[in-house]
Amino acid sequence: MLSAARRVLSGAARLTPKPQSWQPAVPAAAGCQLEARRGYRHWWRVLPEDFELNSESMPKDVKSLMASNPHNLGFIDAYWYWRIRAESTMMDPENLPKKSYKQLCRDMGLSIVNEQAENLLGIVELYEYLKSSPFIGPFGTIENPVLVPAIHTERIVGCTGGTGDNEHVPLWFRCREGFLYRCGECDQIFMLVRVLYELPEEGMDINPIDPDVKDVFDFALLEKGNEVWNTGGMINWPTGYDALHGTVYGGGARDEDQRAIGE
Ligand SMILES: [Zn+2]
Repeated sequence: MLSAARRVLSGAARLTPKPQSWQPAVPAAAGCQLEARRGYRHWWRVLPEDFELNSESMPKDVKSLMASNPHNLGFIDAYWYWRIRAESTMMDPENLPKKSYKQLCRDMGLSIVNEQAENLLGIVELYEYLKSSPFIGPFGTIENPVLVPAIHTERIVGCTGGTGDNEHVPLWFRCREGFLYRCGECDQIFMLVRVLYELPEEGMDINPIDPDVKDVFDFALLEKGNEVWNTGGMINWPTGYDALHGTVYGGGARDEDQRAIGE
């Protein structure tokens, strides 16, 4: 809403010829208008609610949803199962310190740290690292080429030659496995090397559930949280209220027509 208004404002400012004695009508908006005219794009920060599903998508029968096995749920049902379970857990703060690490992880829908999970995270980090890191080292020759680590058979490489007088504009090329590459500008030699990694063995569960962990959701927890946070005329935990009452957005009727913005 705000960004749309801003876009309209800055668009209008650009289209209308600027009078000599132009004064911003709304001083508070002038700062961000100036910013919007800068030479770079500004992207809004990503917020947790950007990844949330609307509460209309919550299944109507939450009681049987919460009694089902989370492994057998589809995307939407699993989303709501874990969201309600995790929020119910958080909304019961006095019992949080009494839980074991594995039990808390499971109730929050998180993975415990084990060898398999570390391995998988390591691969993600290796990939992120290889994706973004420039390498600095001795000038590559045929005897001693610049080694280009890659997790696949090719990687885009840019050569800048070196520093000072040796530096040239970046020259980009596709460095493929099995060849030596010579920079057309400075004759530096490059070679791709594959970085191999192993995934956990086939059929191995990377997130095993400990036998001591209680994996059945206690529906009374949801009712207790609702009792604690949503009484006295205040709805401080809308998800819990909606889950129990079949409403949307913390108490709105589910079948009500969509109201126009600002109505
Ligand atoms: Zn070069």
